[in-house]
Amino acid sequence: MGATPMRPARVVVLGGGFSGLYATLTLLKELAGSDLAEVTLVDRRNYFTFTPLLPEVAAGTLGPSHVCYPFRSLSKKGRLHFIQGEVREFDLDEHVIGIENLAIPYDYLVVALGSTPYFFGNQELESHGLTLTSVADALAIRNHVIRLFERAVVERDPIRRRQLLTIVVVGAGPSGVEIVAELHHLIRSTLLAYYPVDASEVRMLLVDGEDRILPHFARELTDAGRTQLVERGIDVKLMTRVTGAGAQHVELNAGREIIPTRTLIWTGGTVPSPVLARLPAKRTGRGTVLVDECLRLPDHPEVYVIGDGSHVMDRRHERPYPPVAPVAIRQGVRAAANIVNALEGRGGEPFEFDFTGNLVGLGGGMALVNFLGITFHGRLGWWVYRMAYLQRLVGAKNKALLVLTLGLNALFDRDISCET
Ligand SMILES: Cc1cc2nc3c(=O)[nH]c(=O)nc-3n(C[C@H](O)[C@H](O)[C@H](O)COP(=O)(O)OP(=O)(O)OC[C@H]3O[C@@H](n4cnc5c(N)ncnc54)[C@H](O)[C@@H]3O)c2cc1C
Repeated sequence: MGATPMRPARVVVLGGGFSGLYATLTLLKELAGSDLAEVTLVDRRNYFTFTPLLPEVAAGTLGPSHVCYPFRSLSKKGRLHFIQGEVREFDLDEHVIGIENLAIPYDYLVVALGSTPYFFGNQELESHGLTLTSVADALAIRNHVIRLFERAVVERDPIRRRQLLTIVVVGAGPSGVEIVAELHHLIRSTLLAYYPVDASEVRMLLVDGEDRILPHFARELTDAGRTQLVERGIDVKLMTRVTGAGAQHVELNAGREIIPTRTLIWTGGTVPSPVLARLPAKRTGRGTVLVDECLRLPDHPEVYVIGDGSHVMDRRHERPYPPVAPVAIRQGVRAAANIVNALEGRGGEPFEFDFTGNLVGLGGGMALVNFLGITFHGRLGWWVYRMAYLQRLVGAKNKALLVLTLGLNALFDRDISCET
């Protein structure tokens, strides 16, 4: 009797965001032409979302076709199985994942389920806050803002009109700064040209509890960014806590100030995807999962946890790596390379990452850029920002569309039709 042929190892990647996508791409590349393993990707959506450009989708400069990339387009290139579904359970002893009514067995598991908005337990903020984590969120914000202008032009009462035209963004990290700047640009460059609304009635606020915007950026850039926002007329309220909200207002500093508004955009905090609480593993107080230096669970070295949901110490700087896309991408690549190492009988290598810089778009052809310690802002920053995202965007068609759309945007106003 001949020996039973070895079956390929089953590698399952949960979550196709930045970390899961790059883990999958690396596995497909490294395992091309080999029978060592088959790769399955699972996500609740059937496409990858390029989140850094969501503020531009919310502002109508870009659309879903620029930022979404279907996972099935990857499977033409390699041996990838894709399952659309909600991850619900982990049985690490039996090596099985529960996805809706399916049980998926694995030999190696990559958990890359990202994060979700966190409202610090405040039900009012959760009920009334608009979030910005998906294309659906971005389109909802865009429709909401255009609808406010439709209502404002027929509103006779000046107090109610001002309330309609007041937008509060909470959180002065990159997504909060980008969304307030992009919406400001949408309003100033397009909506005020088409809607008979007095510009002085429009009010935009950016609120944060810290004493500076963009706390992870170089001081020079955060100062330049704040100056830009203030010069545009955006009210930047620092050292200010948002403590409540209703359908018609936002409450600051436990009621010391009430802002009449119908719009609260929440970018004030995130926590790991709630399903990670079901993963039997040690975690931090924030809920991020503790992994070893090779990104594995110490008690289950066949399980890797990466991206925003993991807690990885940067031992050289004695602090955890931050939850940002470049870290997620490199963790995806490292986890995949370590799985290939294990399949080929080699040991794992530790995750290490050096930041080359960071970028934030400010709308209207302006951006803040720190590249290898050199800082740019204004128009030069915008070109560097555009080139960087053009290079990073997933999919040749998405890149071509981005270039075409930027050209068209220079010639024509953006679309202001909106769903009711
Ligand atoms: C609006 C916005 C702007 C941002 N801008 C920047 C920026 O400019 N620069 C930067 O570095 N970072 C930015 N970030 C942060 C960056 O997007 C994250 O750090 C990065 O996406 C983390 O990657 P991840 O793989 O951990 O998670 P994600 O990219 O969030 O991916 C998680 C994936 O898991 C899936 N998923 C989650 N739970 C389940 C479940 N239970 N079942 C099935 N599927 C599930 C989701 O659908 C998603 O595809 C931004 C984030 C947002 C929201």
